[in-house]
Amino acid sequence: MRWSKTLIPTLKENPADAEVISHKLLVRAGYIRQISRGVYDYFPLALRVIRKIERIVREEMDRAGAQELLMPICSPAELWQESGRWEMYGKELIRFKDRHERDFCLGPTHEEIVTDLVRRSVRSYRELPFNLYQIQTKFRDEVRPRFGLMRGREFVMKDAYSFHADVEDCRREYDNMVQTYKRIFSRCGLTFRPVEADTGAIGGNQSHEFQVLAESGEDGVVSCNSCDYAANLEKAEVKARRPAARDIAAESPKLEKVSTPGKKSVAEVAAFLKLPADKFIKTLVYKTDGDQLIAALVRGDHEINELKLRAVLKSKELALADESAVAAAAGVVPGFLGPIGLRLRTIADLGIHGMRGVVTGANEPDAHFIEVDQERDFTPSAFADLRLAVTGDPCPRCEQGTLETHRGIEVGQVFYLGTKYSEAMGATYLDAEGRERAIEMGCYGIGISRMVAAAIEQNHDANGIIWPVSIAPFQVLLLPINYKDKAIRAAADKLYEELLQNGVEVLLDDRDERPGVKFKDADLIGIPLRVTIGAKGLEKGCIELRRRQDGKTEEIPVGESAKKLQTLLTQAGQT
Ligand code: ATP
Ligand code: MG
Repeated sequence: MRWSKTLIPTLKENPADAEVISHKLLVRAGYIRQISRGVYDYFPLALRVIRKIERIVREEMDRAGAQELLMPICSPAELWQESGRWEMYGKELIRFKDRHERDFCLGPTHEEIVTDLVRRSVRSYRELPFNLYQIQTKFRDEVRPRFGLMRGREFVMKDAYSFHADVEDCRREYDNMVQTYKRIFSRCGLTFRPVEADTGAIGGNQSHEFQVLAESGEDGVVSCNSCDYAANLEKAEVKARRPAARDIAAESPKLEKVSTPGKKSVAEVAAFLKLPADKFIKTLVYKTDGDQLIAALVRGDHEINELKLRAVLKSKELALADESAVAAAAGVVPGFLGPIGLRLRTIADLGIHGMRGVVTGANEPDAHFIEVDQERDFTPSAFADLRLAVTGDPCPRCEQGTLETHRGIEVGQVFYLGTKYSEAMGATYLDAEGRERAIEMGCYGIGISRMVAAAIEQNHDANGIIWPVSIAPFQVLLLPINYKDKAIRAAADKLYEELLQNGVEVLLDDRDERPGVKFKDADLIGIPLRVTIGAKGLEKGCIELRRRQDGKTEEIPVGESAKKLQTLLTQAGQT
């Protein structure tokens, strides 16, 4: 491709609304432009990257035995009503009416559509198993679309759904997909981690996410420094540390009420009493199903994991109760709450068990208790794992490891669904004995357009993008210093043709621009190999080859350059 004929609208400045580097660079380097919040145009360079990723995804899905199909983006409400998700999905599901006043939505994911397709096509166990996938635009009316392609409203996803006669076969396919995903993300040049995950709105009972490790990631991820345990922070288990054996002879000092005027947060009271945050018990009041209030206790330096709390309470609704509701139920505002004498059902984190010499609110304004001894002073209704894991926690799987925390970008997720959708929608088959049974299902997603952003978050420098070779929009950038110069032009055109003939993806910067502009743009758009053709080099019969990744340059004779480039690309696993 010739640059002069390609739309690559590079900018000098970062867009004002961009927070993360991939968003800044994608806009500045002429890859994308926003047309509405979370909705983007993909310029030719971006589309080439997307197509590269799609190709790898197709090759690996096909190799794994899956088949590609295409389902409609727009689907009727009835299917979503059958599964119950028309009610459950909330505002993320974008809905509209057709001219006959019938309800429709744009697919945020396709479990309902594919389950309907399968129930209309499959009769017998002989037709199972199979795995169907598509690559398609999805729409989710996200509350906070942001970070460019990382969290859009319209985005490209690969979604796959597998159908099986029994649990064992479905588990086999789940593992097959985990292996396939590892191959896909490795081939795309990403550094990633498969982690145990919550199943969220999709449902089901087992799930892994594939997290690209990057500081800008929206997800917290923990991993063990000794075994291969890794989990999304919201899913990460916390192993209870055994409380130190209690010395019965050593009695705790007497419980004492102290005045803490206007000091509410743990940080405020800790500073006031000159005690560290881990010497506090935090009391939080939540509203659950049926507007019931419950209190949850965690150590002052820990955070509640609301997913865990929700699971323990078996409550669909869960939100911090507002101040007036707390005051009405407990007689005191949040900040001075504590478990001693509290008239609410109380669930305590495992870490609270056996705490002594600690501080809690005294359930009256401007007062706290000190020298609280849990076993002596209060008994919660239950102890449970309620908190978010932190760096240094013991690994829940092995004896010697401790947990490390990272930030991650979720680029893919696999779910073991079981019969959640097949039962709700009547997708059944007849087994060998002629009995009707619900089909076992799994589903498997990859955020193709999010991967474009994730790759940049991991591969860039101060000057621009550094594409992994396998997903770069072009493999080679030819940069004639002055394309008007006859000799330079002849050499550039010749090399361009030669590379094209050998199937190399090459972009020729034939623009009439100053060399400085061309070099800057070259770094910005991030093509892995740059070939500079200038008068000085040509006098010696040479061109300059520069690798974007490490800036290494070498001079090579013009005649050998096509071959040399191909060798390098083969080495990088690509021709
Ligand atoms: P998230 O937790 O980030 O909102 P999700 O778990 O809801 O994502 P899935 O239903 O698992 O998403 O969808 C499969 C994949 O689609 C995700 O792993 C992610 O890579 C991608 N994806 C999901 N939402 C978006 C979005 N708003 N923009 C871009 N990609 C997305
Ligand atoms: Mg997900």
